[in-house]
Amino acid sequence: LGKRALPGHTYCFSEEMAIEMKREAHIQQGLRKAMDEGAFELKFMPIHQRDKPWCTSAEALIRCTHPDLEGVGPDLFIPVAEKYGMIYELDLWVIEFCFREIGALKQEFREDIRDLRVAINISSLELNNPKLPAQIIMLANRHDIDLNTLDLELTETGLVSHKPSGLKMLTELRQHGIRIILDDFGTGYTAFNQLQHYPIDRLKIDRSFVNELSISGQAHTRSLVDVILRVAEIYGIPVTAEGVETQEQLNYLAQRGCHSFQGYYFNPPVALTKLIATRYQQKRSVEHACAIVNAVP
Ligand code: C2E
Ligand code: MG
Ligand code: MG
Ligand code: MG
Repeated sequence: LGKRALPGHTYCFSEEMAIEMKREAHIQQGLRKAMDEGAFELKFMPIHQRDKPWCTSAEALIRCTHPDLEGVGPDLFIPVAEKYGMIYELDLWVIEFCFREIGALKQEFREDIRDLRVAINISSLELNNPKLPAQIIMLANRHDIDLNTLDLELTETGLVSHKPSGLKMLTELRQHGIRIILDDFGTGYTAFNQLQHYPIDRLKIDRSFVNELSISGQAHTRSLVDVILRVAEIYGIPVTAEGVETQEQLNYLAQRGCHSFQGYYFNPPVALTKLIATRYQQKRSVEHACAIVNAVP
């Protein structure tokens, strides 16, 4: 192809494609090795609710620790896992690993974990995997996890393209107490009036919208954020804003009725033990402060 192509665009295009294919093959091979060796870990990013001094839930985010995939994040390797049929194994690994970590921490922090929700991302391809609910229930039983504290995050693209089977599965998952979160809302193709047909408990406004909120004001983005919050309000669906990095963004979103927030302004993703320990300290210091206030005659 390269030889026959005229110099210029055509040649460059095929060269770019070759680089892209090589990159993808490299990630695919790295993933296979990482999966065989269990070379992954989870980081947890706290989600804060308005008026709550400690985080109410934590989102599990996968990281690959295999040296072949150094610096390759889930934004890059999850799509490859989806394309090559590895995602089911990977999602299941995440679910079990997450349950096991929570189970282990229960020994030490039982009371403090009881009111912490945990959110796990699953690929929208899972909507075509009828085995998923039974697998989640089996793993939850094995690790003594209360499904009423589990959130599953899915992107809207999947919901639209797997409609009948997806709706059935989400309904089943919800019957077991699991809550469904529509992730990255605003980047896909959900018509707003479709929201009422999906069995969802919460929306997450995509980081790209939050990023552009600034004090100087991007009128266009502001109005998009406003529209999303308003639509969610009409359908009675609470909203989490993702990617909150500044006080201004937080203030703006809170004023507009956003219910909860996640982003570097609060905390980057950390090990679960660290998140729980921080939360424990925050709870204790608030309790301590309350005790002092109450003791004042
Ligand atoms: P997501 O589910 O939308 O997760 C949010 C992403 O935004 C995370 O990136 C998080 O670190 C990042 N983020 C949140 N707040 C901020 C902020 O204030 N500033 C900046 N710069 N970034 C912020 P991450 O961990 O790289 O994950 C990327 C995507 O990969 C996730 O997007 C999710 O779609 C997917 N993913 C991550 N973990 C898993 C997993 O265990 N299973 C599956 N199936 N997908 C996963
Ligand atoms: Mg997510
Ligand atoms: Mg998201
Ligand atoms: Mg995302």
